[in-house]
Amino acid sequence: MTANYAADLALFINGSWRAGEGRDAFPVLNPATGKAMADLPIATEADLQEALVAAEAGFAQWKAQDVEVRGAILHKVADLIRKRADSIAVLLTMEQGKPLDQARGEIIGAASMFDFYAEEAKRAYGRVLVRPTGQRAMVLKQPVGPTAIFTPWNFPVYLLAKKLAPALAAGCSVIAKPAEETPGSTAALMRCLADAGVPANVAQLVYGVPDMVSRTLIGSPVIRKVSFTGSTAVGKHLMRLAADGVKRITMELGGHAPVLVFDDVDLDKTLDMLVPQKFRNAGQVCVSPTRFYVQAGIYDAFIKGFAERTAKVQVGNGLDSGVQMGPLANPRRPDAIEALVADARAKGAKLMAGGEAYGDGYFFQPTLLADVPVEADIMSTEPFGPVAVSRPFETMDEAIMQANRVPFGLAAFAFTNDLRTANLVGDAIEAGMVGINSFAISVADAPFGGVKQSGFGSEGGPEGLDSYMVTKAIHQA
Ligand code: NAD
Repeated sequence: MTANYAADLALFINGSWRAGEGRDAFPVLNPATGKAMADLPIATEADLQEALVAAEAGFAQWKAQDVEVRGAILHKVADLIRKRADSIAVLLTMEQGKPLDQARGEIIGAASMFDFYAEEAKRAYGRVLVRPTGQRAMVLKQPVGPTAIFTPWNFPVYLLAKKLAPALAAGCSVIAKPAEETPGSTAALMRCLADAGVPANVAQLVYGVPDMVSRTLIGSPVIRKVSFTGSTAVGKHLMRLAADGVKRITMELGGHAPVLVFDDVDLDKTLDMLVPQKFRNAGQVCVSPTRFYVQAGIYDAFIKGFAERTAKVQVGNGLDSGVQMGPLANPRRPDAIEALVADARAKGAKLMAGGEAYGDGYFFQPTLLADVPVEADIMSTEPFGPVAVSRPFETMDEAIMQANRVPFGLAAFAFTNDLRTANLVGDAIEAGMVGINSFAISVADAPFGGVKQSGFGSEGGPEGLDSYMVTKAIHQA
């Protein structure tokens, strides 16, 4: 454990780091050992009220800054994140579990968000409508206002950066409540912001009892926008809270990504891509490839090759070298996954690899289930863990129908060498992102977001900036 881990866990409110002083605390667990590493102080009602007052003042100052000034500060944030990437990665692995190289990759990805939006905000152009009699109408983009941000524990640094960067670039102030399970890495990210010169009342950090924090922040008239990444169930709850104040919302919710594998692919090459992606971050990825629909002619060979590669995945403490998959992030996940696997097997699925939780921490074996019946809960409930489920298909229409069967539509993937198949699948799949022969779908310059119950609103690209801006039309006679 790093020397200052416990000491660095604090709230950041109106420019001061706060801990202790009679605040309640939550234990922070190391998922590789199941042991508590430190206590996390949580926000009181008074902390939140103070943060809200500061956010209102911070918004007035920050939106008045020239976009060049905001951009220069955000580039500095990116530089600091890259400089500190190695030490933040250790915190992230200790509290979240993912292997160190994946943690470092996440942090570098977070830096790219700040660099991208430092520039993109300069292109938040309006337009002028010229009328024949000398009249004009001007369409302007303005920052929406103080924003409440709620982010989860699976990519604590990257997902927080994905909201902070466009919100700050647009000119909003933010109060962020990242997940309580992974507070060291998110506090380290907020230190980069403060050290780069983001004003103290513009970017604040709180942890707390989630329901109390979200009710207080979303219920306050100061907050004008809510952005959440997490489960569909919590997203629906926050949408209801936001409805009372008619607040703008961005919802990045759960997925259940289908993968269509057609029989024209180079199977070995495809499996070498699919298996590491399935087990990246132990499957705790909202776009994790999960439902593998494989064309009948190559189905048996696919299952054999997938199972062989699955059995070879190196599982262990993410801080140890050579480890490809760490533990699950918290004790809720192994229990939930065990129940889904047991249900699928009871309904006729064949266990081809893994299948069990083990160890003192929250480990779960990389798992493959074949011939999984549609009625199995896991075919409709996102496993959010290291489990791949598979079924054969005969025709493209059947595969698309299966892919679109669930009420979610975040990411979908297809593997084929046939251009027409790729185009037809890309058009027909109900998802916010489709990867064709690729998993590179979460990048700074392209929109990322779901359809159906996977949410609405995009992060990334110009769309991500737009979601922190309102449109105003000024008509001049
Ligand atoms: P959960 O539904 O209890 O929590 C999900 C996230 O929402 C957590 O970060 C949590 O701190 C936060 N949260 C919970 N209640 C909240 C509230 N009232 N106000 C504000 N934030 C609140 O689930 P969990 O056990 O942490 O994860 C289970 C499921 O959540 C997973 O199976 C997965 O489907 C989903 N999930 C999705 C993502 C994603 O990237 N879309 C990330 C994490 C979890």
